[in-house]
Amino acid sequence: MTLVTNNSCSVSPVNKDDMYKKYDLKKVINASGRMTILGVSTPRPEVADTVVDGLNAYFEMKDLVTKTGHYIAKLLDAENAVVVSCASAGIVQSVAALIIKDDRDLLFNLHSSDKPVPREIIVPKGHNVNFGAPIGTMIALGGGVVVEAGFANECKSEQIEALINPNTAAILYVKSHHCVQKSMLSVPQAVTVAHKHGIPLIVDAAAEEDLQAYYNMGADLVIYSGAKAIEGPTSGLVVGKDQLIEWVKQQSNGIGRPMKVGKESILGLTRAIELYMTDRHNESGADMVAKMTPFIQQLNRLNGVSAQVVWDGAGRDIARAEISFVEQVIGKTAVEIIALMKQGDTAVYFREYKANEGKVEVDVRAVSREQLSVIYQKISAIIAETILVNSILIDAEEVK
Ligand SMILES: *Cc1c(COP(=O)(O)O)cnc(C)c1O
Repeated sequence: MTLVTNNSCSVSPVNKDDMYKKYDLKKVINASGRMTILGVSTPRPEVADTVVDGLNAYFEMKDLVTKTGHYIAKLLDAENAVVVSCASAGIVQSVAALIIKDDRDLLFNLHSSDKPVPREIIVPKGHNVNFGAPIGTMIALGGGVVVEAGFANECKSEQIEALINPNTAAILYVKSHHCVQKSMLSVPQAVTVAHKHGIPLIVDAAAEEDLQAYYNMGADLVIYSGAKAIEGPTSGLVVGKDQLIEWVKQQSNGIGRPMKVGKESILGLTRAIELYMTDRHNESGADMVAKMTPFIQQLNRLNGVSAQVVWDGAGRDIARAEISFVEQVIGKTAVEIIALMKQGDTAVYFREYKANEGKVEVDVRAVSREQLSVIYQKISAIIAETILVNSILIDAEEVK
């Protein structure tokens, strides 16, 4: 008799093609950067292995949270750190931590309590952005009340200082390309004004690449998204002063519970940070320029298209190809071209922020040279099609 055992031949890992086939999903070329709507990033194999190891073991979770936090803090030369479920959860729990502090009653009744504790969170108006969800909603979830400082296009230290009062719980600074950049106070200036009044400064640095800069500038809590620059699993990181991180950690017994982070993410992010700090094999901006130069040259030979290298608006070492489409020549707007690029078997996603100016940006970090040539072919087909249609129309005009 043959014995059939299951455990020796566990289900073979689904390969990528099966995944797309099984659920009828479209393939994606991600030329938009670390975008949540596309799955952010693809962690390297060492990180994926750590996630699997984590899934297959039990831990005293409190111990895991504390010790990985200390391990990360040591790597970053900071007092303390904690892995959370995502950067948004980091904002929510940081706000809650600074309102609740040691108050057990508030920990359990953050939203229902009318205890008169400071709840105001001062945010430069130009930082009150929508990153995919509104900053203000995260502050409200954390029990805070948004107080905007300055104007849409300007915020100085004095404008923050004028709003500080006994109800101020914290200042939140959002370091991001989403924010207004001009006439904004710097992080060190925000630190100075916060500490002059004994108020903590939170920095949302979700997509930033430097895991030490803002902490070293004196920020009390700094928040990162685990899957963006760090290329970890879906997760987030809060780095900061020891007492404040302890207050963030205790949120898991309050509003933090629906933002629970799994053991696999805690271990996966810790490993990703370790690799990020010790063995970074990230492409430099110069590497990106080298990769995209032939692509840019090809594009510049197309009618109605021009392309050039542009550098990241938030000052990170990221180069992108900016493509301008001349509507009068092509007969299509950038918005229409963006929509066409997403059609077919493989969707191509650009950075779309400047579509209203007739421009898109190509972020090549997750794009291979082969994929760049797919992108080029797709663009040239769209343009050839309209130019062909136009010339037929012109011919028809001439016949008349
Ligand atoms: C991406 C982002 C977030 C949210 O990060 P998640 O990890 O997806 O929650 C918050 N703030 C800014 C500025 C971001 O860019």
